[in-house]
Amino acid sequence: MIKNIALVAHDSRKKDMVEWVEHNREKLDGHKIFATGTTGKLISQVLDNVTALKSGPLGGDQQMGALIAEEKIDFMIFFWDPMTSQPHDVDVKALLRMTVLYNVPTACNRSTADFLITSNLFSDMEYKPEKRDYSAYLAREVKKNIAETNFD
Ligand code: PGA
Repeated sequence: MIKNIALVAHDSRKKDMVEWVEHNREKLDGHKIFATGTTGKLISQVLDNVTALKSGPLGGDQQMGALIAEEKIDFMIFFWDPMTSQPHDVDVKALLRMTVLYNVPTACNRSTADFLITSNLFSDMEYKPEKRDYSAYLAREVKKNIAETNFD
């Protein structure tokens, strides 16, 4: 079964990402890749089937988060930079939050990415991560206006 795989790498980690993709080219071939703009440009020299979103700081992380919220991403490899503060730090945090919220298998370093891609579950046709039930949250009572709120 074709998986939708998200690939994102901050600038200092792009070399790592390209090497990882080259090393795992055979396993990744045939799957659909979604990447933030600059990461996508680099890895499309190695892989076919790459959809490049906007560059991360220009909205690409948020586009990726939206794909996750729409349950269109099966795995994410996100090599983020632990040594440099990012102008789009809030977007990075939001993207990582989405992966936890939707239980998307996510690797943030090469060793975890290696574990992920060599897992039997990676090639398991049927495997779908369990979804948490948010129905109670959706059904919660919300006051329509502030006047209904009791501050006592
Ligand atoms: P980029 O974005 O692939 O466009 O560099 C990465 C990111 O910072 O999210």
